[in-house]
Amino acid sequence: MNNHFEQAYPVLDKIEKAGFQAYFVGGCVRDYLLNKTIADVDIATSAYPQEIKSIFQTTFDVGIEHGTVLVLYHQVGYEITTFRTESTYQDFRRPDQVTFVRDLKDDLMRRDFTINALAMDKSGKIFDYYNGQNDLHEGIIRAVGSPTERFHEDALRMMRGVRFSAQLGFDIEPKTLRGIAENAHLLEKIAVERIAVELQKLFASTNKQKGIHYLLEANLHRYCPQMAHLSEALLKLATLPVFKDDYVNWGLLMYFGQLTIHEAKAFLKKWKLSNEIINKSIALMEVIAYRLSCAKFENTFLFLHEEDVVENAQQFLSDAYDTFVYEDTALLFSQLPLRSTKDLAVNGRDIMQLLNRHQSGAFIGEIIKTLTHKVLSLELKNTKNDLSHYILTHFSHYKG
Ligand code: ATP
Ligand code: MG
Repeated sequence: MNNHFEQAYPVLDKIEKAGFQAYFVGGCVRDYLLNKTIADVDIATSAYPQEIKSIFQTTFDVGIEHGTVLVLYHQVGYEITTFRTESTYQDFRRPDQVTFVRDLKDDLMRRDFTINALAMDKSGKIFDYYNGQNDLHEGIIRAVGSPTERFHEDALRMMRGVRFSAQLGFDIEPKTLRGIAENAHLLEKIAVERIAVELQKLFASTNKQKGIHYLLEANLHRYCPQMAHLSEALLKLATLPVFKDDYVNWGLLMYFGQLTIHEAKAFLKKWKLSNEIINKSIALMEVIAYRLSCAKFENTFLFLHEEDVVENAQQFLSDAYDTFVYEDTALLFSQLPLRSTKDLAVNGRDIMQLLNRHQSGAFIGEIIKTLTHKVLSLELKNTKNDLSHYILTHFSHYKG
């Protein structure tokens, strides 16, 4: 058995010794059967949360109202969730009430797709009530039971479906796909952050072409914020090699959609992305635009950008334009005379001393800015002597 499961074996064993059932469930079993690396091991049990908490020493209430307790066992965290059905759904979102049950089969029935509705006991025996293994072998994403009902319960499942098709390269079974197309509008009920997570996973997948194709075919994109007019841009993104960094995929989508920087910022804010992702995707757009209009990178430009952004922009440009001449990004950055203003051979205190000033002021910022520019454009050598000389000849009007 896989190492992850071996490590988790005593966890199941302890629950069973206390008189309950316990199984590995969901994505970990799917990925194990596919021979893929397992992200995290989830466990389903007939024990109630309080019972789990009495079995293990270190537990955290991460989602106790949904039946989930996080157990720390030998430094590894396991989400242990009580078998449950989701009884009432309001607004096509997560259930607002769950009912605990004591039967594995009922628990697996509430899961989204047959390939995710698999369980495995500690001996490695698979429990497969919905033909998940068959769909795994045939490469099919199929809703458990009626697709329409399942998407009404939780509309995010539609996004998960296209995301899994991209990650696994699987086809979406026709009835399930029709269910997505017919219920795509329900996506409007889902928090944008949750949609963004799925979309990002889709964009970063080996088979993103497949996922994007389904996204468009089912018209899901029309119910994603501001994506209705980006189908061409999405198709272009689909043809590119895979970029793992989320900001690159967002930035390229904006680029293909021909959004201005201003529009792109508003778009990314609507998606409630982190400031880091927003800033870097905007920077990527700027680097691409810059390099398409100049034959090479100037030091003064590189100084303002991050190395990975420049590298990703160049990767994209090399792929998109046959005539593009790629320059070794690491080399470009290593040849910069400065990486930050802190690398200048003089600092604020030196400047004050040179100019015989006892208090700092705006003049320091102005001088540092000028020196930085001159050093980057190779008009000045970054030595204390050269910089001091320059300050005394060009900024003597600031002398105290
Ligand atoms: P990954 O971790 O690679 O994103 P996963 O299948 O493990 O994929 P998780 O979100 O970790 O996805 O969920 C674990 C399991 O919980 C799933 O395999 C599935 O059985 C169930 N599940 C998760 N989200 C839903 C949902 N929205 N509807 C129904 N079942 C779900
Ligand atoms: Mg998972």
